[in-house]
Amino acid sequence: TPRDKIRNFSIVAHIDHGKSTLADRLIQVTGGLTDREMREQVLDSMDIEQERGITIKAQTVRLNYTAKDGETYVLNLMDTPGHVDFSYEVSRCLAACEGSLLVVDASQGVEAQTLANVYQAIEQDHEIVPVLNKIDLPAAEPDRVKEQIEDIIGLDASDAIMTSAKNNIGIEDVLEAIVTRLPPPHEGDRDKPLKASLIDAYYDPYLGVVVIVRIVDGVMKKKQKIRMMRAKSTYEIDKVGIFGPKPTDVDELGPGEVGFFVASIKEVADTAVGDTITDEKNQATTPLPGYKEVVPMVFCGLFPVDAGDFDDLRAAMSKLRLNDASFTWEMETSAALGMGFRCGFLGLLHLEIIQERLSREFDLDLIATAPSVVYEMTMTDGTELELHNPADMPDVVRISEIREPWINATIYTPDDYLGAILQLCQDRRGIQKELSYVGGRAMVKYELPLNEIVFDFYDRLKSISKGYASFDYEIIGHRAENLVKMQILVNDEPVDALSMLVHRDRAEGRGRQMCERLKDLIPRQMFKIPIQAAIGGRVIARETISALRKDVTSKCYGGDATRKRKLLEKQKAGKQRMRQFGKVEIPQEAFVAALRMD
Ligand code: GDP
Ligand code: MG
Repeated sequence: TPRDKIRNFSIVAHIDHGKSTLADRLIQVTGGLTDREMREQVLDSMDIEQERGITIKAQTVRLNYTAKDGETYVLNLMDTPGHVDFSYEVSRCLAACEGSLLVVDASQGVEAQTLANVYQAIEQDHEIVPVLNKIDLPAAEPDRVKEQIEDIIGLDASDAIMTSAKNNIGIEDVLEAIVTRLPPPHEGDRDKPLKASLIDAYYDPYLGVVVIVRIVDGVMKKKQKIRMMRAKSTYEIDKVGIFGPKPTDVDELGPGEVGFFVASIKEVADTAVGDTITDEKNQATTPLPGYKEVVPMVFCGLFPVDAGDFDDLRAAMSKLRLNDASFTWEMETSAALGMGFRCGFLGLLHLEIIQERLSREFDLDLIATAPSVVYEMTMTDGTELELHNPADMPDVVRISEIREPWINATIYTPDDYLGAILQLCQDRRGIQKELSYVGGRAMVKYELPLNEIVFDFYDRLKSISKGYASFDYEIIGHRAENLVKMQILVNDEPVDALSMLVHRDRAEGRGRQMCERLKDLIPRQMFKIPIQAAIGGRVIARETISALRKDVTSKCYGGDATRKRKLLEKQKAGKQRMRQFGKVEIPQEAFVAALRMD
């Protein structure tokens, strides 16, 4: 396809504003799928994704559109993941396009992710076409929303397109705008050595790893020997194709084009989003800019509730890993929870998604331990150590310095919630860096320890701003802090799954809170249970769950003596079992609930 007949674009929107519905309409109108093939929301293929309304993995669809000027254009729609945990994937995906449709629900107006996403598109120098969707709703206020787009985002919204994706209104206008208002791909040279950007990869049970690419220079075709410049690996291409949205083979992909290739790659971990692919025999000298290593930021332990499920859990995690290189795991043994895995995630949402997929798709009951960040330590003998699990913390006398990761956080919010948000950041050891106002909204920048964010910062931010604040962050490095390991002892036994590193100044408060929570969360038993928080050997907080004196025989009316005796024996046996293991049954929810901070 000639370069000037190509348009690569993405759709940016807040959740539920109609991105998937609009994408479906575009596919339908351009004839990518027949009505019969048209399934609701083609682009969101995973269950959880549909329910949560987020797109986890980027996908692309090629549309052939004959415009009013009589010419046929190739439109590549790149679907982007919509959450901060996947922000690097969003940025790589947007980097592969020249323009975006900004979809705003005409009844809701500009919202948190509208901003976060559109700023990413602006950063990539995208041409942006505003689309006001859901104009069929009686509550739609297109004029007010246009004004918002102009005031808050600073985009000209005078020729925003009015659509109802649901009722098929305005879809042609959107297609025309893509052709006339968005630019074709930037200059690329067919004769230069191949340079392609790796946008995404996923595991397909039939094809193996399918890699989605955007060609910058040169051509990619079948049988070609290619080289991944960062991964330093070589493959031979088996198949080159496009998604229409069904995968269709093509002879080659040229400059500006987006498509996929298959090359006997075993797992997604062998590909890295942002890597540059070149020709093995005719190599490009420099890779494309902007590559970033994606490293897990949050770790937690996952254990099967039923120890017999361990092998199933391992098999399930291997399957997920095939398709998600950013999810890592290794075996872990915990005194309280038995055999399980220490897992690494990009962020909290990523953690939740994996956990949910394990329990839903693989039918596994899991206990997750407290999420933790990666700490760096310098030991007194000069060696360096990385700590992924607070339970593995070495003896303090051997440590000379502990460093924790810090982030630069950017928060956009309507003025009304600013006070509460500043307070939240302050409470989490934040350092304010910037505060500015744009059209009734505030933008605040804070430096914060990631440790204070991983658990429930995002949830808290959403709840105090009624869902209106948006949040984004980047890691800025590790800083030395006065951190200590706090242990929780239940019935005098340390529960390693609940131990955590905390800032010394915050230890008492956190310890007291944990003990109070656990007191409510652990059911009373036949004996008294002390709950303590301790640093080293020193107890800093304590609660006691009083014993439950339940007369189990009271339910047996009258005098069946045998039955009565049997019950008493049962009760005794139960008591012994508890003591024998020297531990108390802690309900699964307690692990998560105890760690919430508010
Ligand atoms: P996404 O999260 O941005 O992908 O949003 P969806 O496409 O999943 O749409 C969210 C909800 O809005 C769904 O229930 C859609 O049926 C509905 N929706 C999408 N477009 C329209 C529209 O134009 N009018 C109305 N009334 N509802 C719409
Ligand atoms: Mg969607």
